[in-house]
Amino acid sequence: MNTVQAPHAQSALAAQVVDAIRRVVGDKQVALHDPQFSGREWEYLKDCLDSTFVSSVGRYVDRFEADLAAYTGAQNAVAVVNGTAALHVALLLAGVEAGDEVLVPALTFIATTNAIAYCAAVPHFVDSEERTLGVDPHALRVYLSETTEQRSGACFNKTTGRRIRALVPMHAFGHPVDIEGVLAVARDFNLVLVEDAAESLGSTVEGRHTGTFGLMGTLSFNGNKTITTGGGGAILFNDTELAKHAKHLTTTAKLAHRWEYHHDEIGFNYRLPNINAALGCAQMEQLPDFIESKRRLFTRYRDAFTGIPDIRIVEEPPGCHANYWLQTMLLANPDRVLRDEILAATNDAGLMTRPTWTLMHRLKPYAASPRMPLTTAESLESRLINLPSSAALGQSAS
Ligand SMILES: *Cc1c(COP(=O)(O)O)cnc(C)c1O
Repeated sequence: MNTVQAPHAQSALAAQVVDAIRRVVGDKQVALHDPQFSGREWEYLKDCLDSTFVSSVGRYVDRFEADLAAYTGAQNAVAVVNGTAALHVALLLAGVEAGDEVLVPALTFIATTNAIAYCAAVPHFVDSEERTLGVDPHALRVYLSETTEQRSGACFNKTTGRRIRALVPMHAFGHPVDIEGVLAVARDFNLVLVEDAAESLGSTVEGRHTGTFGLMGTLSFNGNKTITTGGGGAILFNDTELAKHAKHLTTTAKLAHRWEYHHDEIGFNYRLPNINAALGCAQMEQLPDFIESKRRLFTRYRDAFTGIPDIRIVEEPPGCHANYWLQTMLLANPDRVLRDEILAATNDAGLMTRPTWTLMHRLKPYAASPRMPLTTAESLESRLINLPSSAALGQSAS
């Protein structure tokens, strides 16, 4: 229900939000998410330049992949140029073909959806749940029971006749999706599970890292993510053969030979350059500290917002350990006017805040895509604001 409030009451609430953020971040301008290079970045970059191995071969790529696998508990990690490329290749390896449908939350960054379109497949939008901000497995189960049929072990959309091949949940702002529920739906409806873990490096469910539950998981190291390589991404695997294929596909599918250029399929030039991987190795060494700071920042926001009516700071779901990539506040009731008032007041005050992404089904390229009722996603869209979230803001001394 929309609560009708007088304009001055809304302004008062927006002023309270500005004040609460100020108490956490201090009296300065702050960005939504700044990278932090306080480790061995210069040393590794210099070493990389000195070696002349700045491009597609080099020991930092191997080390970065090994570091990622060790940290996440995945059997293998393959580093690529960005998170979108990681999703593209993961979907191809999942067997997504032209004309398939792929289930994806409407509440996600456009990269998840674009990767499906790059496979000439059709995104099919699913709703989110309030508790996790991610795919609602219970609503999805009911929806798929009514709208799909199984034919020789495959899931078909009864309306469009297309095969629904895969499900791509996304761990929104670092909060793990209800992965057990999602895995059960994937199993019962014969869907391949690929996790978009671009935002959730360091987030776990019962101690197991996000991105390692599905057939594959993907990460992003864009400039605004928890760690950055400038641009970069990775695919996580629990299947060494699949990982080998991914490496092959992302390096132009070239067959090893002393001088011949032989390529046995249409591959991609998606390999992460060594110079970016050097940055990644230095960032990985700081990841535990970044997450500790981000978790501390969460408690500071939660405390600062205590007592502000009808606003809460999103907390990690039970049983989960979140990286708190982007701190998130939610209005109790859908109210776009109030949301925008808070966005205006905070940004005017030099405190960078952002709404969530425009829901995918509202975007021109995806307006005709099939979708289930998106009640909760639409509610969240009009209530959600991301707060300044840089790890530096949560350091103990600040
Ligand atoms: C950042 C992000 C990606 C990948 O982004 P790149 O900029 O290509 O690395 C994919 N999905 C989500 C949800 C993201 O937030």
